[in-house]
Amino acid sequence: MENFKIDVDADGIALITFDVPGRSMNTLTSGVMAEIPEWVERVKTDDAIKGAVLTSGKASGFCAGADLGDMASGMLGGADLQAAFDAGWRLNGALRALETCGKPVAAAINGLALGGGLELTLACHYRVVGDSPKIQLGLPEIKVGLFPGGGGTQRLSRLVGVQAAMMAMSEGKSFRPNDAKGAGIVHEVVPVGGEVEAAKAWIKSGGKAVQPWDDKSFKLPGGGPYHPAGIQNFLVGNAMLRKQSYGNYPAVLNLMKAVYEGVQVPMDAALRIETRYFIKTLMTPQAQGMIRSLFLSKQELDKGAVRPAGVLKSDPKKVTVIGAGMMGAGIAYVQAMAGIETILIDQTQEAADKGKAHVEELLKKRLSRGQLTQDKFDALLGSVTATTDYNLIKGSDLVIEAVFENREIKADVTKRAEAQLEAGAVFGSNTSTLPITGLAEASVRPEDFIGIHFFSPVDKMMLVEVILGEKTGDFAIAKSLDYIMKIKKTPIVVNDGRGFYTSRCFGTYVAEGLAMLEEGYAPAMIDNIGRMTGMPRGPLEMHDDVALDLSVKIAKQTKDDLGDAYEPLPGWKIVQTMVEDLGRYGRKNGKGFYDYDSKPKKLWSGLSDLAPVKINDSTPEVVEDQKRRLLYRQAVEVARCWEEGVIDDPREADVGAILAWGFAPWTGGPITMIDQTGLKEFVAQADQYAAKYGDRFSPPQLLRDMAAKGETFYGNFEGKKAAA
Ligand code: NAD
Repeated sequence: MENFKIDVDADGIALITFDVPGRSMNTLTSGVMAEIPEWVERVKTDDAIKGAVLTSGKASGFCAGADLGDMASGMLGGADLQAAFDAGWRLNGALRALETCGKPVAAAINGLALGGGLELTLACHYRVVGDSPKIQLGLPEIKVGLFPGGGGTQRLSRLVGVQAAMMAMSEGKSFRPNDAKGAGIVHEVVPVGGEVEAAKAWIKSGGKAVQPWDDKSFKLPGGGPYHPAGIQNFLVGNAMLRKQSYGNYPAVLNLMKAVYEGVQVPMDAALRIETRYFIKTLMTPQAQGMIRSLFLSKQELDKGAVRPAGVLKSDPKKVTVIGAGMMGAGIAYVQAMAGIETILIDQTQEAADKGKAHVEELLKKRLSRGQLTQDKFDALLGSVTATTDYNLIKGSDLVIEAVFENREIKADVTKRAEAQLEAGAVFGSNTSTLPITGLAEASVRPEDFIGIHFFSPVDKMMLVEVILGEKTGDFAIAKSLDYIMKIKKTPIVVNDGRGFYTSRCFGTYVAEGLAMLEEGYAPAMIDNIGRMTGMPRGPLEMHDDVALDLSVKIAKQTKDDLGDAYEPLPGWKIVQTMVEDLGRYGRKNGKGFYDYDSKPKKLWSGLSDLAPVKINDSTPEVVEDQKRRLLYRQAVEVARCWEEGVIDDPREADVGAILAWGFAPWTGGPITMIDQTGLKEFVAQADQYAAKYGDRFSPPQLLRDMAAKGETFYGNFEGKKAAA
């Protein structure tokens, strides 16, 4: 075997060490899955073996789950359902053989165990886990449009009951070791390093080689569908899942079905039920889009897929952040966490200190959760210097400015910072709206000037949008991407333009909600429809969150810049009145489309005077049509960005849309949505919306041409890659 090693000790206990060669982390590749039956057979048939302990040979963790790249290509090779089932069954069959091998098997979990990694341990009779805050145990498959397909739906339900199992699997949240013990997922938590010994001790003390569910007296905790309490889980659970997912995710429904049907039959049949639903889910466009964007493409971008190849890799050690406000302080924190020495500059020492205090607050949270030791906390906080002194910039690999959104202030800061910068350093602006080419005019080295656009809150948002000015060079791109990879965020690289890529396309969602408001749709209906599309919140709520006065400011700036070409958006007057006459700025002053003085927030009663309700028809046809309208409006803008050269890589467009503005993840992103709809169909539908609502829906010529030629974005991209 390549991936497992067996050592039998003097007591007859086989230590099976899982260690995939050449990789820093174990995953369940097809090679691994093929070898599991081999060692299971040996444990079962070798008389010298009394029991077995399964552990990992990796310092980084036990196992991170299935190799999704392998899985997506291997199982979906064709439309042959039997072949797909057989491939899906391989792991389930092997794990069933493991738990029925007749000898006690314990898992010594010495690192994170996620997805198929945890499922592997659930098929063992006993689980010991190391007591480390770094260890997570969970079944996160739902996040890529799947659900556990290695027995997880059946074993977890039987271990902890349907309700707790469904919650864990439908949210994909992971457990820390002690929480996993409390929930009944593992049996024992021991000091790190003692896992194997404790697992062996369990075997030596007569550990039973039978799973609870294979014992005749087994009763499902909390009861199954024919139990008065158990049925509630399914009745209420169904409604709750519907509320969370709006029926957008087939994985959620299929998960529920697999559990409902599976807990009523013995384990062998239950696992076959799981495999059927799993394969059915894997074949949905939603799962395929999500696996590609949220896993494969994201991973490629994380590893620098779009980094210019010709530039030597750099390792930024010292980075200056100018402007210690909300964004600057957040950036300082993620830098500190990545081990980057940070100079945090503001106009006054007080403002700089305030920024550093925010870093301290975030670090304290980690300290209190046991994720940092006091020494580490002190070192990280000590790596941030709050100052007003520009001389301290010297020696920085990179400077990022996050001062007020004002061209003159940014120009002044650029000049002062550049005076301190050595050759080889890069200057980045965190502007959210000002074109980079214009800002670079203040720079004496525009080839090293670049947009590095973070999202708020910086510590939570995973994406960073890199924007190229006209003169930005490859060196600045490469250095920025090295920095973004070091702080463990996902980069996309886009070309300059009004609103760049993410703000521009996100803006259309908010603006379309406003258009609906002006047309007379009931405000509650607008936000409900928004949420039903799979967007995180409705367009009016999101508008409140980003601030209505900011919209007014941006509109004015756009009007100044465009002159006669400027056309106000439908519903624009409503926002202008709210901001300028009524002082309603959004969530930030507690007054926007909603009133925020009570919880939960309530729609502002005065809104019906500004925008009288004329349409309150919520029949499914209307709702479906308006849902599609909101998604199409955004997707058309994405296609326009493509036509204008703002973006040119479908992976960046899709991953960027989902991570930056929450574009409905079930679609796999706007480009995947257009591809899967089919270009012809998409263009025809967009034309209909254009006839009804205006030119903003008109598909760009690019889409018409692609439709005529029968092309898709990903098809063209793969073709280009193959040709290169
Ligand atoms: P903020 O008002 O919270 O912070 C700005 C900070 O810059 C303040 O502390 C201010 O004292 C400081 N500052 C102003 N002039 C300065 C100067 N000449 N020298 C040094 N410091 C100076 O603003 P913010 O929300 O953190 O935004 C900062 C930048 O980030 C803006 O360009 C904004 O467009 C951009 N941005 C904001 C968000 C967001 O959601 N807030 C998201 C992405 C990008």
